Amino acid sequence: MAAVLKIVQAGDPVLRRRARELSVDELRSPRIQTLIELMRDTMRDAPGVGLAAPQIGESIQLVVIEDSAARQRSLSDDELRERGREAVDFHVLVNPKLTVVEAEPVEFFEGCLSVRERIMLVPRAKTVRVAALDERGEPVVRVGSGWYARILQHEIDHLHGALCIDRMDPRSFMSVDQYQRFWSSKTVDQVRAELDATKA
Ligand code: ZN
Repeated sequence: MAAVLKIVQAGDPVLRRRARELSVDELRSPRIQTLIELMRDTMRDAPGVGLAAPQIGESIQLVVIEDSAARQRSLSDDELRERGREAVDFHVLVNPKLTVVEAEPVEFFEGCLSVRERIMLVPRAKTVRVAALDERGEPVVRVGSGWYARILQHEIDHLHGALCIDRMDPRSFMSVDQYQRFWSSKTVDQVRAELDATKA
């Protein structure tokens, strides 16, 4: 059975700290290599599509990401298309530097394993570029659009002490079960129109 780490929740100070960079030597150490495996297993168990080290209490610049085809099976083709969601293989990003390629904001519901059972509309840049190190300390560059761009922005925010609730439209904050009950069958434009109808 995979070992699973505890995922800390909003309010834990570690989620509001700026995580420190890892040296290549430290990255290659048995401790960090084991931590990467544990983070991968924790993300899969949660389940989630990304996990940043501060979420398991380690204030270091390390994230793991995986958006497998199996994870996406619960979504229809239309839902996958609307989200710009495509399968992303497991990978590790260390000391990532993110730049915006296409700033045009895309709004969608997202959640966070550290804000349990809640979901909210968050605008994210359409396309981003990330330069980082992989788990072996080799430089990598990833350009992401659609859902992958969202994951990259969300996870790298964690390394700078930011959470999705900082960037959300607060009127859209809701529990996952109420989302399923009232909103999940609507498009974002329909949700947006309904939420804004009584906006002061
Ligand atoms: Zn998160």
